[in-house]
Amino acid sequence: MIIGGGLSGLSLAYFLSKKKMHATILEGSARLGGGIQTIKGANGTPLELGATWFSDMHPSLMLLLDELGLKQYPQYSKGISLFQTKSFEPAQKFSVPEAENPSFRIAGGTQMLISSLAEKLSAEKILLNAKVIAIREQGHQLLLETADGRKLMADQVIVCLPPTTGWFCNWL
Ligand SMILES: Cc1cc2nc3c(=O)[nH]c(=O)nc-3n(C[C@H](O)[C@H](O)[C@H](O)COP(=O)(O)OP(=O)(O)OC[C@H]3O[C@@H](n4cnc5c(N)ncnc54)[C@H](O)[C@@H]3O)c2cc1C
Repeated sequence: MIIGGGLSGLSLAYFLSKKKMHATILEGSARLGGGIQTIKGANGTPLELGATWFSDMHPSLMLLLDELGLKQYPQYSKGISLFQTKSFEPAQKFSVPEAENPSFRIAGGTQMLISSLAEKLSAEKILLNAKVIAIREQGHQLLLETADGRKLMADQVIVCLPPTTGWFCNWL
């Protein structure tokens, strides 16, 4: 059982599935992706609300993108940029030099990584709206309780939540 349907939980489930180990993901919210979320504007342009850029300093991510057949493109960085600190103040214009270390974006939006990983997993192994509120030992197994009252037994549990989700330390 994997707790958290962000990039960590999904990629873990994917790599386990390649070794014929099929874990269930419990995701607390109504969507997968966690800190990765791409929305589309009226003309279909992807807009990132979370993770956006990566570079050749992230070789594991680049390998995963290749494996999933996802395309990337360099971030255009040279030229005039607009920067607005407050919605009621006009945007400021400034020149940006070309970046020394180019950064890249995932074609179609970072969410493509999430949806591609999810497609590789069987849908019944992904439970949305399944916020885990307790993990208890029960004999040789672990009993997980979700906020909506579901009780699930697991042989092993891997918590894929960022440290900022501090309260999970009180689970056991
Ligand atoms: C292209 C790209 C660019 C990136 N750029 C940056 C960057 O610029 N800066 C940076 O810092 N990182 C960046 N990253 C890293 C990335 O943003 C995060 O490291 C990554 O999203 C974290 O994933 P996670 O699964 O660990 O956590 P999360 O994305 O936070 O996922 C955790 C999930 O657990 C769920 N959850 C929480 N509590 C519970 C519970 N009790 N029960 C069940 N589910 C629960 C949440 O709803 C969430 O979906 C980038 C990543 C990529 C792929």
